[in-house]
Formats: sequence, structure tokens, C-alpha cells
Amino acid sequence: MNQSFPSRFGFHAPIAGGLHNALIKSHELQCNAVQIFSRNPRGWTAKPLIDEEVARFQTTRAETNIATVVIHACYLANLAAADFVIREKSRLAFREEVERALKLEADYLVVHPGSAKGACAADGVRTCAETLRAACRDLELKNLRILIENTAGQGECIGHRFEHLRDIIALCPKLNLGVCFDTAHAFAAGYDLREEDGFHAMLEQLDLCVSTSNIPVVHFNDSKTAFASRVDRHANIGTGEIGDAAMRRIATSAKLKHAAFLLETPHEPHEDFVRDIAVLRSFIERTEAQRSRALRSLNGIKTSSANNLKH
Ligand SMILES: [Zn+2]
Ligand SMILES: [Zn+2]
Repeated sequence: MNQSFPSRFGFHAPIAGGLHNALIKSHELQCNAVQIFSRNPRGWTAKPLIDEEVARFQTTRAETNIATVVIHACYLANLAAADFVIREKSRLAFREEVERALKLEADYLVVHPGSAKGACAADGVRTCAETLRAACRDLELKNLRILIENTAGQGECIGHRFEHLRDIIALCPKLNLGVCFDTAHAFAAGYDLREEDGFHAMLEQLDLCVSTSNIPVVHFNDSKTAFASRVDRHANIGTGEIGDAAMRRIATSAKLKHAAFLLETPHEPHEDFVRDIAVLRSFIERTEAQRSRALRSLNGIKTSSANNLKH
């Protein structure tokens, strides 16, 4: 694959028939990064990962050359829960997520910070950080990095302001947390990234709060819901409220070029989803082509000025 810009992209792939199938599907669609659930995302209990499944995943990863594996934690765990019973269940469920991610040698584990229902956002932020620290106690994370995802702010969810992410990270200094930046969530939460000015202002805030260098994963989604709606519904690229031009601006931002870009757009109809991959690739490759052209013309200028000097 040519070294594009950003160089890693893919999508949230289904795990029906085994976790390794997500890698095969990604490879078939010429992607080199993937996001998966490592278990049923809507249940509290998960079947334990058996060694055979882990080995099959590793072998398939080597065969398919998938550079980046991201696991998205299950939805039920609420790290910010004010209720003790829910918080305890969430702590255990998240610890299990970390253990599964370690077994699978995933690069990143993405988690939503949770809902502070019944408490204020500041309490939610503190509770989330405490639960994270407790869930990871005595675990060696090795190369696994936990990423807190920004949210749309639906209901009483925290994480819709970049400051929440900043504060959670600051309260967990030993965990080396990072951020997963979701474009549709930011837009629904009230960051207007449709126009160039708004996008740059948002990037500046993101940089101030968490530093864009701590964003190794971008969830690249258009939004079905309106600006600042606080409702989380993803749309296929260019068909939603963010639109094609703004999505291209995001994909080609130098500040995010180090990140893996992952689609979480609707898979049905399938043509629309396959088109999303093609659109993301076209944004990236066009940038690469533009970059090469710019370099060539720069070299041309240098050569001609060098020639001028000789004359
Ligand atoms: Zn998410
Ligand atoms: Zn997301």
C-alpha cells in the first residue's frame, strides 16, 4: 500500500463467526487498521476468551498485516456512575475489557467516560477517573493505551467538553491515557467544525486541553443529527450535517495525520459503506498527490534558483 497521509485507516468491523473475521474483512477492503468489540457490547457478561481464539486472531493479524487494532469497550459499563452497584459492575466489566485487550495485544482500548446521572459533571469526571484507576489496579498495560472518547453529550453523559477529557487524564497520571476523537460526537456536542474557522478553533481547543499528539485514533463519522443536538447518530460520509468538504478538511489536517482514521458509519446499505471507505481513501490519496506535487514544484523552484545562482 502506498504510504498515504494519514497512513492508517479502516472501520469498525463485525466479529460474527470469530474475532479474526474482522481482520479478514478489513484486509479484503484494503484497510490496515480496524476497530472491534472483543465481546457482545450490550451484555454485562462475556464468554471468556479462549487461547485458540487468541492464537487465531494473532495469526490472522500477521497474515493480513493489520497495523493498528482498536477495541471499543462495551456500552453498558458506566465508569462515571453515581450509583455504587452500577459503578462496581462497571469497574469489573472494564477490567475484563482491559484483560481481553491485553490478551489480544490490541494497541488501543476506547471507552466512553460514562454518565454522571444524579450528579454534576465535575463529580462524574472524578468518579470516572477513580473507576478507571481502580479497574486497572495492578494490571501492567504494556503497549496498550486506553483512550477516552469525546461524546455527543446525550442525556447526562460527560465527555462532551474537551475539558472533561483533560481532567480525567490529569486525574490518572499513571495510566498514560489518550483520547479518541469522534467527529460526529464533537459536532453534535456543539463544536462547529463545518467551516474552516470553526474547525481550526476546535482543533486549538483540543490541543489546549489534551494535545492533538495524544489522539492516536479518530472516529471518522458524518452526523445524522443537527449541530449541537446532543444526539449521537452517525451518517455516511458526505450525506450528513457535517458534509463532504468539512470531512475532507478533517481527514487532511496535518494535526491529525499521525492518527488512525476509523469509520463507524452505517453498514447498510452496503454500497454506501463501501463508498465511505473509498471516499476516505480518496481524501487521503488526493492529499498525498497534492503533497507530492507541492514537493515537486518546491524542488523545481530550488533547482531553478540554484540554476539562477550558477548563471
Ligand atoms: Zn464510541
Ligand atoms: Zn465513536
